[in-house]
Amino acid sequence: MNKDIATPIRTKAILEKYGFTFKKSLGQNFLIDTNILRNIVENAELTESSGAVEIGPGIGALTEQLAKACKKVLAFEIDQRLIPVLKDTLSPYPHVTIINQDFLKANVNEVLKEYFTEEEEISIVANLPYYITTPIIMKCLEEKLPFKNMVVMMQKEVGDRIAAQPGTKNYGSLTIAIQYYTTVEIVMHVPRTVFIPQPNVDSVVIRLRKRDQPIVQVKDESFFFKVVKSSFGQRRKTILNNLTNSLDQGKEKKELIVSSLGVAGIEPSRRGETLTIEEFAKLSDALYEHFN
Ligand code: SAM
Repeated sequence: MNKDIATPIRTKAILEKYGFTFKKSLGQNFLIDTNILRNIVENAELTESSGAVEIGPGIGALTEQLAKACKKVLAFEIDQRLIPVLKDTLSPYPHVTIINQDFLKANVNEVLKEYFTEEEEISIVANLPYYITTPIIMKCLEEKLPFKNMVVMMQKEVGDRIAAQPGTKNYGSLTIAIQYYTTVEIVMHVPRTVFIPQPNVDSVVIRLRKRDQPIVQVKDESFFFKVVKSSFGQRRKTILNNLTNSLDQGKEKKELIVSSLGVAGIEPSRRGETLTIEEFAKLSDALYEHFN
């Protein structure tokens, strides 16, 4: 008999036992396909001495597969109603710890320091609540959590934007924010039929491997991200027009932007979506001289 949590029969039995009703507002779509879960876990490249951090364990479907593959699992679940359920479903796995906290509000670095030693490599693995996919990923990157890789499931459209190449319609400031810190791979496509309840979208699993250093070195990180955001302000406009509209006012502003574009070797008539991250870095450094 298959005792895994992530089967339709076992999942339904657990939900019934606890009279659990899904909260759409918390992005609750639970996976009921063990093969997909195993595949996610394989992509995290866990070992007997490594750890996993999960965001949103639900009733423990992915948590269980993580527990089978590594030394320790730490999971953040916002929904208090799921805590007794998880205590029950994960009772065979004493090396799993559940924290009843909003991941976005938690002091995750501090919690990780308490729970993992410096030698234990950490992977972040999750079937993300779709309404906060981007804030969760950006928190992990900006707060510099000590993870080796992140293997996370999300709405296909968001995954396509994260993995996009320059010159495509999906390429934008989100692509650059994430590729700045990590390499991105789409490792799996997941149909909507393997969840209950079924979401209205298809999903992908992406793997982010943290770079030793950001892909480009810039004079000022927050100015770099400001230039990137400004360049994508209105997608149909040229980079010159977008930057002119968004950088701080000043009399010779346009000339300074044109000359900075020249220093960076970028035609003013190009659109933001055609610039590589390296070109954005050169441009940001040139503009920084005049606009910081
Ligand atoms: N891991 C389970 C699975 O794969 O079946 C459940 C995934 S479900 C898409 C998302 C989970 O994230 C839900 O259990 C939800 O309650 C939880 N969640 C939503 N917002 C959260 C937050 N801010 N912090 C922690 N967990 C959250």
